[in-house]
Amino acid sequence: MRSEPSGHVPAGGAEPTDATDPSLETVRPGQPTPGAVGRVGPGAHEGLADPDGAGRRQRHELWMRRALEIAVTGPDTGGAAGPGPAGTVAGSAEPVGVAVEDIPVGAVVYGPDGTELAVGRNERELTGDPTAHAEVLALRRAAERIGRWRLDGCTLVVTLEPCTMCAGALVLSRVSTVIFGAWEPKTGAVGSLWDVLRDRRLNHRPEVYAGVLETESAALLRAFFR
Ligand SMILES: [Zn+2]
Repeated sequence: MRSEPSGHVPAGGAEPTDATDPSLETVRPGQPTPGAVGRVGPGAHEGLADPDGAGRRQRHELWMRRALEIAVTGPDTGGAAGPGPAGTVAGSAEPVGVAVEDIPVGAVVYGPDGTELAVGRNERELTGDPTAHAEVLALRRAAERIGRWRLDGCTLVVTLEPCTMCAGALVLSRVSTVIFGAWEPKTGAVGSLWDVLRDRRLNHRPEVYAGVLETESAALLRAFFR
């Protein structure tokens, strides 16, 4: 593992680096982004500048609980997504009865002030759309809601480590912070197989918090595949 020069990032991102190794060994469940120290640009406020680390952790867990809720129930509105395999719809008269069950992954986008902007649940089976991952749906809805594609200052929370597609979408959306729950060793692109969000060749790198409520997030998936 090499040591990095304090995270200074030239605007052009002129530091072609082999992205396949630098961060992988430094990312561990429950730890903040290794490069967070001295980071510049969007998302720096979420990092070590926050004197109240405990408060931040609490907030992240609260947000993750909301993402877990979405993973199980789907978005509240429209009834487009059915309940998860557990079959319980929390406190609402949501229509039940989706034939093919989607893998329960939930995502929420929060605005810079902590306002919930949009949610998404994996709807690949429901819609027959290979790109209908929770993160993509939540990003689209959040952008639609605020009326622009740039989501800088926003935070995306998702119950499972994003795949390559979603990691790419997260970079393109310019979200400042990404928080995920369970690690996905088979397809994960935020530290497991690749580390797209912290690839130094890209000019936007969100801050990443991994393994938030990892146990709960992994348990939800295990229950689905049982
Ligand atoms: Zn994905």
